[in-house]
Amino acid sequence: MNANPLHILREVFGYDSFRGPQASIVEHVCDGGDALVLMPTGGGKSLCYQIPAIARQRSGHGAAIVISPLIALMQDQVGALHEAGVEAAFLNSTLSSAEAYEVEQRMLRGDITLLYAAPERVTTPRFLAQLDSLCGQGRLSLFAIDEAHCVSQWGHDFRPEYRALTVLHERYPHVPRIALTATADSLTRADILERLQLQDARAFVSSFDRPNIRYKIVEKADARKQLLAFLRMEHEGDAGIVYCQSRKKVEETAAFLCAQGINALPYHAGLDSSVRQTHQNRFLREDSLVMVATIAFGMGIDKPDVRFVAHLDMPKNIEGYYQETGRAGRDGAPANAWMAYGLQDVVNQRRMIDESPAGEEFKQVMRGKLDALLGLAEASDCRRVRLLAYFNETYVATGNAVHEMPGVAACCMNCDNCLHPPKVWDGTDAARKLLSTIYRVQQTSGISFGAGHLMDIVRGKKTDKVLQFGHDQLSTFGLSADLSEAQLRGVLRQLIAVGAVAVDAEAYNTLQLTDGSRAVLKGEVQLMLRETASTPPERHPKRDKQRSAKAVVGTLAASLDEDALQRFAALKAWRGEVAREHNLPAYVIFHDATLATIAALAPKSLEELQGISGIGAKKLEAYGAEVLRAM
Ligand code: ADP
Ligand code: ZN
Repeated sequence: MNANPLHILREVFGYDSFRGPQASIVEHVCDGGDALVLMPTGGGKSLCYQIPAIARQRSGHGAAIVISPLIALMQDQVGALHEAGVEAAFLNSTLSSAEAYEVEQRMLRGDITLLYAAPERVTTPRFLAQLDSLCGQGRLSLFAIDEAHCVSQWGHDFRPEYRALTVLHERYPHVPRIALTATADSLTRADILERLQLQDARAFVSSFDRPNIRYKIVEKADARKQLLAFLRMEHEGDAGIVYCQSRKKVEETAAFLCAQGINALPYHAGLDSSVRQTHQNRFLREDSLVMVATIAFGMGIDKPDVRFVAHLDMPKNIEGYYQETGRAGRDGAPANAWMAYGLQDVVNQRRMIDESPAGEEFKQVMRGKLDALLGLAEASDCRRVRLLAYFNETYVATGNAVHEMPGVAACCMNCDNCLHPPKVWDGTDAARKLLSTIYRVQQTSGISFGAGHLMDIVRGKKTDKVLQFGHDQLSTFGLSADLSEAQLRGVLRQLIAVGAVAVDAEAYNTLQLTDGSRAVLKGEVQLMLRETASTPPERHPKRDKQRSAKAVVGTLAASLDEDALQRFAALKAWRGEVAREHNLPAYVIFHDATLATIAALAPKSLEELQGISGIGAKKLEAYGAEVLRAM
């Protein structure tokens, strides 16, 4: 059989070409080299070891062992390989001992190309003895160590069992190893190299850019309503994740979306584990489910067609934001990362840090990380440039991006700021008026006040409270009457972000001056602010025929005409049935992008179907005729 990697990519997986560094990684590993692969989520790590495994098996090197910590993921990967006609199996605690025995026998007979196993299984004396025997006959082709950051206590998911994997190198020094992770920081990386004895491995570090994800950060007005508008406008019928800070908010938001006719489920650590499991499975298997979740949800979610990730509350830092948003668009098709944030988020996050029992030094680091995220949220320039800069990467424009025009910073043309550059205004003067108001009320009343009251004063509102305290007599009363409340909130957020105002959580979130206030009061700091859009326009999509067909297919529909939309919907329905019959997630049968291409091209014969990205030889044979009939 043909062991050429590109041939395998086309024949087995039905893809045209390798993505980014895949080609060089595959070649290096096929030739027996060790590799460390750092690639963002959705970069295409699996093929980096699956293709060498198939190629080496075809050229007589035997089986590859894939070490993976996530049982659910193993099952889906093996299912997907079966669909592509590859002999694969897994060994983990879900198998009975008779089933496990059967798998071992198949492996020893040489009937398996890829064997997925949990780390604790691989390092048992029994399994090692079997590997010894394979290795002795030259039939052990490769070790792939997935989620390699699990070996490091600096990673976010330390698993001590990974430490024992050093035995692989000691016992089988000539068997190539490839370790893969999406965790980029240098501490974790150094730890992986040392702990897995991969010092001599070639490192392949990809860009962490996710070009198909469009970043959008909006100011919170009525967050739920904004979310609903976002879903209705851009994501009808799409699968996605909505992150909320608290369990209560998760429940409320899921209920709200359901009441609006959106298929939503809650997920948080307070739910029964069986409920969590069911909801997770439904999310993986069903086509258009919205998961409303705390950050307890997401680790190891391999669903490629998540079309959006929405944040109703601001995460703690950019690492968290990037990891969570990274779950969108793994299939490379357009996806949205949408976040609504506001003054209250800033206040809450600051308070959580202040109230945490950690030491002052640690808190300082956390505040710095929060500030970086606030900087991103308030930015009026390219979000992608800022995100990548945070990970020490300089953005290099690709595809549709415009950059390096004289005097213009690089921009991606796929974030809100690049697409609709916001107007900026100078908020320095307004900031000074607010700060002197905080100072004056403290002086005259002897107590501090919260944001709402202070804004009422500078905007010249004679509320009961203002009159009660005589704050209409202050010299700053009404000085910012020309500004909207939204604009003033923007000013306050920035003041809190730069540390010129402190929020006292123990005293009803009242605002106080800090050491940092002076520089602003003296006019030494200039505050440039995004022009706040007034409340987002209420747009109720028309529910005409075109619209409801679109609802079935979501984002990818944008490029399809009405007939193609009908075909796409029919293909999706067909795929749903097949997936249920095989008890596999729909995307394992065909990706959305593949179905959308079929719908657009409307092929009439198997020859015409062949060559569409995502249709390998086995799938063409198994499903080709049905696909033609289904349209
Ligand atoms: P990762 O593990 O890095 O998050 P995956 O291996 O799950 O990413 O790949 C993400 C998606 O991209 C998968 O659905 C995969 O089929 C697809 N993919 C990977 N490589 C290619 C390629 N060369 N051409 C087309 N699609 C690809
Ligand atoms: Zn941009």
